[in-house]
Amino acid sequence: MESSAAPTVSAGHDSGPAPVDLLRRLRARGAGDPVTHVERVPARVGVPAPWPAWAPSELRAAFARRGVVAPWQHQAEAATLAYDGGHVIVATGTASGKSLAYQLPALATLLADPRATVLYLAPTKALAADQLRAVAGLDLEGVRPACYDGDTPRAEREWIRRHSRFVLTNPDMLHHGILPGHAQWSGFLRRLAYVVIDECHTYRGVFGSHVAHVLRRLRRQCARFGANPVFVLASATSGDPATAAGRLTGLPVTAVTEDASPRGGVTFALWEPPLLPPDSTSPPVPAQAAGDHDAMTDLVQVRRSALRETADLLADTVAEGVRTLAFVRSRKGAEVVAANARRALDDAVPGLGDRVAAYRGGYLREERRELERALLHGDLLGLASTNALELGVDLVGLDAVLICGYPGTRASLWQQAGRAGRSGQEALAVLVARDDPLDTYLVHHPEAIFGAPVEATVLDPANPYVLAPQLACAAVEAPLTPADLALFGDGAKEAIDQLVEAGALRQRPTGWYWRHRERPEVDLRGEGGAPVCVVESATGRLLGTVDGGSSHFLLHPGAVYLHQGVSYVVDDLDLADGCALVHVEEPDWSTHARDVTDLSVVSVRSYVDAGPVGMFLGEVDVTSQVVSYQRRRIATGEVIDTRPLDLPTRELRTVAVWFTLSPRSLASAGVQQADVPGALHAAEHAAIGLLPLMATCDRWDIGGLSTALHPDTEAPTVFVYDGHPGGAGFAERAYGTASAWLRATRDAIAECGCETGCPSCVQSPKCGNGNNPLSKPDAIRVLDVVLQNLPA
Ligand SMILES: [Zn+2]
Ligand SMILES: [Zn+2]
Repeated sequence: MESSAAPTVSAGHDSGPAPVDLLRRLRARGAGDPVTHVERVPARVGVPAPWPAWAPSELRAAFARRGVVAPWQHQAEAATLAYDGGHVIVATGTASGKSLAYQLPALATLLADPRATVLYLAPTKALAADQLRAVAGLDLEGVRPACYDGDTPRAEREWIRRHSRFVLTNPDMLHHGILPGHAQWSGFLRRLAYVVIDECHTYRGVFGSHVAHVLRRLRRQCARFGANPVFVLASATSGDPATAAGRLTGLPVTAVTEDASPRGGVTFALWEPPLLPPDSTSPPVPAQAAGDHDAMTDLVQVRRSALRETADLLADTVAEGVRTLAFVRSRKGAEVVAANARRALDDAVPGLGDRVAAYRGGYLREERRELERALLHGDLLGLASTNALELGVDLVGLDAVLICGYPGTRASLWQQAGRAGRSGQEALAVLVARDDPLDTYLVHHPEAIFGAPVEATVLDPANPYVLAPQLACAAVEAPLTPADLALFGDGAKEAIDQLVEAGALRQRPTGWYWRHRERPEVDLRGEGGAPVCVVESATGRLLGTVDGGSSHFLLHPGAVYLHQGVSYVVDDLDLADGCALVHVEEPDWSTHARDVTDLSVVSVRSYVDAGPVGMFLGEVDVTSQVVSYQRRRIATGEVIDTRPLDLPTRELRTVAVWFTLSPRSLASAGVQQADVPGALHAAEHAAIGLLPLMATCDRWDIGGLSTALHPDTEAPTVFVYDGHPGGAGFAERAYGTASAWLRATRDAIAECGCETGCPSCVQSPKCGNGNNPLSKPDAIRVLDVVLQNLPA
């Protein structure tokens, strides 16, 4: 604070300092320079295109009434592709007007053909409701748009099925309601011209794999009625959108990715908090503040925490009179940032702290509007909040945005940064890196943020744990025939055979028939393994659910469990009932589960033989058991004790990528035999940390195992596996991009300024072995051997 000018807080819409000057003052604050890169994202002038000749004048006039004078180039291009009958995905930035790209061909068709219909799918009811308002606002005759979801009153449903020609719904309703009731929907499906899939990047992993089959079931029903709709998909920018869209729909899809919409200029700084001196006595931020999972991070803090750094930056920008929004991953974290910023401001000028607030969940609509008003009028200058989707506040046009920790995907990063910038004014965005390999990599590799995207939306429709139940649903809708096998893709025949063997399907000359009275129960968002309910003992109140896979880690007896910033301690985990009983308690320790994991190779799908190095993709069986937990002081990280647990083992059949190295190649690279386990273990941790660079997963979706000698490979081996039964596509993506992925992993380790390994490079918050052994220099040697031998 000492270097800041005297706080000159301006109310109203006065502009603060220019972003470049503001950034100069912020970075001059401490000893070293925490800024690793500054990117000037220039203002972009939009490239308009003429209305396509096929767009009827009535529709042009309707858009013009809404202020759309002409489409942008990318909108016109995607719209024409779709109007000509091609399946298309438009993958451009936030607020680039993707909706016009599908509204234009869909509505033009509805106007031209009074019988045609359109089905629109959004991942959430709220988004569908937004789109309904937009389409209804065009006021086109005979379109009769309507939402059809779980909230639609029974009385209105029949009217919608009969009369609406633009139905907005979500994949869950399509799966549970529309497809099983296809007979009632036959009139609508028979005339279906377009299927719009909005925000399709949200259909990833196991959920995405389920949705892929729901769409195949939809295509199958349409085909039975003689319809062959065109699919138009909208996505955030991502790597290889055409392939992802092809996997999702099972159709060839053309991608439009050139964004021609205008945008304001942003000065975007990448900020790495400094390493702390070894004897630092800076009071630690509570370890649990950084997010529910991060609650396990208790490792000795070697960098200044991102929360602390963000709080200081927030205080400094507010002192400069700059309206600032800070995004923090957890609610508790947002409160810590706001509290620290308030304290720093009050120390400088008593009372100034009042102009900073934290956004907590559960605000009423009026309270949110009040917050919005206060920030826009400058009564409030700083707000610390969780991500934009939860915000529910329409806040744009801020002068600065601080992003505390990489939000996981480039799409979210740009969405958050996009809150900065008023028309015609430059804004500042700062990404503050957390102590994590991916954040560290990104602040040292700006091209991964500002260059061409590499992270792809991945899903795996061939996952047998998804395919079999989806085929069962399809069989209820209409008997399966050999002609359907190609539609459902690889593994469909095997899955059908298994369903026959299990007595679920019966084979007759005309196809495979569902044998039971009741429909199969299939939850699209199920993660395999029933979720465990978290219940407060005293009140019987259901606090939430934890997926089965994580429950042993997070809800074992004695575990400290955080829910919306409140601390609970688990009394009992009843796995038979799928329920954990907890009580409110905020002890001054955190808990850390330890597990033992065993892995065996079931089969190899594909491999690359690269001399002393082998790279493999295949099925594995993972057996793991949570055996104990440590209690550690939050303030110091000191271990209080280790307590045994009595939990059953769990088995997971999934997909893994793994690499092997010959012992000789390791020896000649200078890795001592005794250091091989630590070298492989460190490489495994960093590789898991960097995989989200290549695929839209987070490190909690994946697991790993490394060993100096694995019985199945008979060599030093590192395994990285999907944490979901049957695989979710992440390991497959890792295998497909192995050299780029491991190159990034190697660079992340080598470029970290620490001596012996830290949470920014090779330590993992979820290590079952307490981050022991780890050898940072040898991990680099291991990865060098792999990269030297592996073809690019
Ligand atoms: Zn490090
Ligand atoms: Zn580990």
